[in-house]
Amino acid sequence: MNAEAITVENIPLIKPGDDIARVIAERAKLEEKDIIIISSTIVSKSENRIFSLDGIKVTGRAETIAKKNSNDPRFVQIVLDESEEVLLDSPFLLVRMKNGSICVNAGIDRSNVEGQENVLLLPEAPDESAGRIRDSLFKLTGKKVSVIITDTNGRAFRIGQTGAAIGITGIKPTRDWRGTKDLFGRVLEVKNEAVVDEIAGFGNFLMGEGNGGTPVVIIRGLNLYHESSGIKELIRPEREDVILRALRSQ
Ligand code: GDP
Ligand code: MN
Ligand code: MN
Repeated sequence: MNAEAITVENIPLIKPGDDIARVIAERAKLEEKDIIIISSTIVSKSENRIFSLDGIKVTGRAETIAKKNSNDPRFVQIVLDESEEVLLDSPFLLVRMKNGSICVNAGIDRSNVEGQENVLLLPEAPDESAGRIRDSLFKLTGKKVSVIITDTNGRAFRIGQTGAAIGITGIKPTRDWRGTKDLFGRVLEVKNEAVVDEIAGFGNFLMGEGNGGTPVVIIRGLNLYHESSGIKELIRPEREDVILRALRSQ
């Protein structure tokens, strides 16, 4: 197998209202079935998900949590406002968000955002953001592509962060091996590979985390195009999630 990964160069600082699809189409020659990996940071900026900590009204609950984990209470308040449920409040704030994803600080970033007091929230509906960008790319280029919106996330049990897919379109999130045979004829019973996270991980690696300015990566040569899909397929149903249950019962 031979796949190609290309970073899209010379992307400007993205501002609210910017058309991400146009920014990409003007800088890259897309091909049919390309996978376009886009950092959530620039999608959020284009959707004006920038909020200032100035003037945020802080509740008693946010004050208490902020003291426990030495955070800015206004930042904690914004995280709480984005969350459905707090699963851990120290030493870091682990929350379940409205779309079912579980992550630290509701994915709210202070890095790579202009303005000392500004924070950047994740896109409100990342699957829909991915879908809009894909539709615009089709209008602009005539090419059917897949889109994966990524964020850098920490992991349970292991040191270090990796890229994860938080919104997808035009690609099936998993490659299901169940029912197929291994090298020795044994039928695979569990393997359902989360391919969009694997691809997001490598895309995130090429983007970097600092001032590299490369928030878009194209992966070419994988045949994973699929019409309908959404990241919800990757969220484990609550009744099957023993770790979620353990966190709730502490
Ligand atoms: P996240 O993982 O989605 O939270 O995004 P990061 O903040 O880690 O940024 C990923 C990459 O995108 C880094 O290489 C940043 O330098 C770059 N980046 C972030 N914002 C912008 C922007 O507005 N314009 C450009 N050109 N690059 C950006
Ligand atoms: Mn982030
Ligand atoms: Mn990152």
